[in-house]
Amino acid sequence: MPAIPKANHAIDPNLISRAAIRVTQRLQGAGYEAYIVGGAVRDLLLGAHPKDFDVATNATPEQIKGLFRSSRIIGRRFQIVHVRDGREIIEVTTYRGPHGSDDAQPATSRQSDKGLLLRDNVYGTLEEDTARRDLTINAMYYDPGKEVVLDQLAGCEDLDARLIRIIGDPTARYREDPVRMLRVIRFAAKLSFDIEPKTKEAIRECAPLLEEIPAARLFDEFLKLFMAGHGNPTFHMLLDHDLLSALCPSAAEAITKDPSFKGMVSMAMANTDQRVKDGRPVTPAFLLAALLWPAVKTRASQLSLRDMPPSQAINSAGQQITAETCQSMSIPKRFSIPMREIWELQVRLERQQKRRLKDTLSGRRFRAAYDLLLLRAEAGHGVESAVSFWTEQQRLYPDLVGSAKPADDRQNFNRRRPRRRKPDS
Ligand code: ATP
Ligand code: MG
Repeated sequence: MPAIPKANHAIDPNLISRAAIRVTQRLQGAGYEAYIVGGAVRDLLLGAHPKDFDVATNATPEQIKGLFRSSRIIGRRFQIVHVRDGREIIEVTTYRGPHGSDDAQPATSRQSDKGLLLRDNVYGTLEEDTARRDLTINAMYYDPGKEVVLDQLAGCEDLDARLIRIIGDPTARYREDPVRMLRVIRFAAKLSFDIEPKTKEAIRECAPLLEEIPAARLFDEFLKLFMAGHGNPTFHMLLDHDLLSALCPSAAEAITKDPSFKGMVSMAMANTDQRVKDGRPVTPAFLLAALLWPAVKTRASQLSLRDMPPSQAINSAGQQITAETCQSMSIPKRFSIPMREIWELQVRLERQQKRRLKDTLSGRRFRAAYDLLLLRAEAGHGVESAVSFWTEQQRLYPDLVGSAKPADDRQNFNRRRPRRRKPDS
């Protein structure tokens, strides 16, 4: 395999996690091959701080587990071992091999009739593992001991050319795992890279395959797409490739029909990106409230035409759009409940009621609801006077704002969570 020696790459050893080095050393010391792989190598070659470290090895999950006291085997689709080292978790995966039509291993490799991979635990060689990865820039292996990068698929060239290129035949790879289309967009947006033409062209034809993906996995992907500091470019690229509808069909439709909604959501994304860059907390509840608002508002307008009063129309529309969206990506209740509260508050804020003014101001969702109102005003949706009113009230009663109870659903979504929580809706 083509190897890039220390002299020809610029990886700064200080950016490498000590834990990842210890894990590769322990595996190599026990006679196995072990490399840092994937996004960490990509980021190191770009001179960036990797957000987490993955290790690939020819040791099996059981053998890995035998070497590390603090480790557990997780996952079904891909069995991986989480090795805990201090505060860090290193994800260790055994080289995967081709699954093809190998009927000899029905328990380890299964494909649906549409080519979707259901299980993928066939072990392979380093070369085979390379070919199973998604993008050329994500398929490089680094040996921290020898300080050598293994680059079988010219990933370094694509990094230099700033190109996102899927490995192998794009249609076949998207069929195996349609989430790869979202990953192509995510990395193109995050790195400001171009998408190689064949990688790009196959997306349009394969986009409907995302319907087969479990809603819980798509919500995980939603967080990676929008909560990692590059939500705004990601949003526009998803729209351009007709992929937003895979995540939230009714919102994608409303946004596509009305450019002012698109502008509004784009502003919400840009604000969230800025908060992430500043290290301030962000909540998926607010972003979801903004992203799905175009659908809620459109639906509520239809219900109002049938003489439903405004607050009831927003409540019903909110309920319907939440249920519809959860069919494609399951939003956990801890986010969908505050999201709906933010929508429901819009009507109260628009009314500028003096009655219960202090309750409204001190409510735990007031700030988020006001922020959404601001975005709506900027989009020219006729709520400017409500914005002035609530801006003035906050100036008069600064200590009241959001004083009821702190919102507890803000987190840093850039950090890998040790255990995947089951969505509770
Ligand atoms: P990030 O910076 O978001 O962590 P990453 O490239 O490390 O980026 P992960 O989701 O952590 O992304 O995946 C680790 C590696 O596993 C990837 O770099 C890629 O090689 C491989 N991989 C992940 N998802 C897929 C997939 N759906 N199909 C093929 N390979 C994948
Ligand atoms: Mg990673």
